[in-house]
Amino acid sequence: MRKTVIAGNWKMNFTPAETKAYFEEFVPLVSEKDGCDIWIGVPFVSIAAAAEATRGTNIVIGAQNVHYKDCGAFTGEISAKMLVECGAEFVIVGHSERRTYFGETNRVVNLRTRAALDAGLTAVVCVGETQDVRDLGLAAEYVEKQIRCALADVSPEQACRVVIAYEPIWAVGTGVTPTLEEVDAACNTIRKNICEMYDINFARRVRIMYGGSMVPANAEKFLALENVDGGLIGGASLKPVTFSQLVDIGNM
Ligand code: PEP
Repeated sequence: MRKTVIAGNWKMNFTPAETKAYFEEFVPLVSEKDGCDIWIGVPFVSIAAAAEATRGTNIVIGAQNVHYKDCGAFTGEISAKMLVECGAEFVIVGHSERRTYFGETNRVVNLRTRAALDAGLTAVVCVGETQDVRDLGLAAEYVEKQIRCALADVSPEQACRVVIAYEPIWAVGTGVTPTLEEVDAACNTIRKNICEMYDINFARRVRIMYGGSMVPANAEKFLALENVDGGLIGGASLKPVTFSQLVDIGNM
């Protein structure tokens, strides 16, 4: 009952011209694959080019961050309204690289999530523990706190446009992955918390992706887990053929 979502995160890669070239190759590879949602989070400056290149296709374009104010004196920032006007339909919020390199706190992640939802965007909310936290045996509590903070004051109506990405920080971009049991347990913890915050029906419907060094060789096992409804994919989304292979697996 939960449709698989295969979501790419390009990070700081691809200019508008490179974006156009990517989709010229990628669109024909996935145009018949409607068994899963296909989302790609692109750099701000490439959103319009990506939206144009994918118009009328089964590919949904999003951004990788959003400011929480509508407008004003916030030099260098981009509002949700701006993203919508450029063609974004979702935004990644609280990615571990934003938390680690740009000091984003749980409070800021909550503000960004609410701003995205207020503007009608889908929010892909990222959570996940560091290696140190995992080693201390505190991963579940850490992720629980991130989820509860990110979704604070998000109404049930708005929460319908939230998708969670469980991304243990030590697995992002490292080629190292958690065990299947660890991933399923973490995603189950997330679902349990969402059940407590909302209700069982919503918890059954909410989609939770796994992210962290997902590639065609390991995706099938992660996507088969009971609590995993998709993948958030960085490095392996940068090559059209490789990403289309992940879409194929999402369609199985
Ligand atoms: C990500 O950027 O969210 C990610 C999971 O990256 P990678 O697939 O490269 O680990």
